[in-house]
Amino acid sequence: MLECSVCKTQNHHLAINCSSCGGYLQQKIETLDLFETAWMVVEHPSKAFHKIAISTHKNYILFLSALAGIGFLFSAFWFYKIGDLIFSLLRFLGIGISAGIIFGEVIIFLLSIAVWLFLKAERKGVKFRQVFAVTAYSSIPIIISAIIILPIEILTFGTHFFGTNPSPYLLKPLSYVVLLVIDGLFGLWSLILFLIAIKQLRGIGWLRSAMIEFISIVVVLLLIHNILRFIF
Ligand SMILES: [Zn+2]
Repeated sequence: MLECSVCKTQNHHLAINCSSCGGYLQQKIETLDLFETAWMVVEHPSKAFHKIAISTHKNYILFLSALAGIGFLFSAFWFYKIGDLIFSLLRFLGIGISAGIIFGEVIIFLLSIAVWLFLKAERKGVKFRQVFAVTAYSSIPIIISAIIILPIEILTFGTHFFGTNPSPYLLKPLSYVVLLVIDGLFGLWSLILFLIAIKQLRGIGWLRSAMIEFISIVVVLLLIHNILRFIF
């Protein structure tokens, strides 16, 4: 809660103006600068998510979702061993990057819907676009991994990294394990950021925020898994 310094009314912690007298409660943020905000997410995540939530314009969220989608889709390729189905590297990359852009928008959208429904049920007074924005910015580690680690995986293993025939582990055991661990750590970093983001929107409660995050991710993953199974 934010107390108005003029009339002492209690306001929502993400409110810019007092609901009673209209006075300013905190500094208004018009736009988000991509690199400044991304760096803030790395350095001071809870401060960054607060800033993202209260900003008037939520810049770059579709762009970030698209980039994260490339990371998400190549992870799915690894999980479903798509490298065994597509042999041409060029085709593999073409599908991964173009479908990844759409995949990212869908995943970030569904995750935001799930979290937003929880917050709505809790009457937290948080808008959908606030959830969508912090979810997109939480995916920054996944984007870093897609830009740095994914090319190394592809340069080292080609499509074999995402398949079983031949097993990438048998080809280069150390490189394979190291790349998977680094990739996993970036994923974990994103999960921690998403938790901090949800907690920042809710105002309080780490445990409940973690529960909301966990259930939302499981529901969205199951949904996507079943949609993919239905299509293929
Ligand atoms: Zn007031």
